[in-house]
Amino acid sequence: MILISACLIGEAVRYDGGHKLDQRLKDLVDKGEAITACPELLGGLSVPREPSEIVGGDGFDVWNDEAKVMTVTGRDVTEAFKTGAKQTLKIIQSFECDTVVLKSNSPSCGTRTIYNGQFNGGKTAGPGVLSALLSEYNIRVYDEVEFLATLVE
Ligand code: SF4
Repeated sequence: MILISACLIGEAVRYDGGHKLDQRLKDLVDKGEAITACPELLGGLSVPREPSEIVGGDGFDVWNDEAKVMTVTGRDVTEAFKTGAKQTLKIIQSFECDTVVLKSNSPSCGTRTIYNGQFNGGKTAGPGVLSALLSEYNIRVYDEVEFLATLVE
């Protein structure tokens, strides 16, 4: 089983109430080969919500209490992001997912790059909070670009 970031299959769960539908990923869900989750909603955040970024590091630093997740107005939402990541891990484990496809650049779902914490659109290397947690487990984690490339191989 595959777990896919909910916004990638057209669920309107992004901070601005939008989504990032890729029909090829939605087809996997429709065929019963994949399930979805949005860690930020699982952490108790709502739609719409303020945009958030990791300030002071990446997802690993958040788990090490060396960085925080802050909203654009300065609200600390670190605990919600951690809770959502842990809830998503529980879903991954209960459905025995061996592959996870996550939305790039998100402070939760980003795998290789995330927004840089300055709310200026810039990016920096490193995983988001969920991706950092999953690195501790034997789960293949892709961003959507990497995973879609595997479908055409
Ligand atoms: S990138 Fe992740 S946390 Fe953000 S809306 Fe999509 S599924 Fe939710």
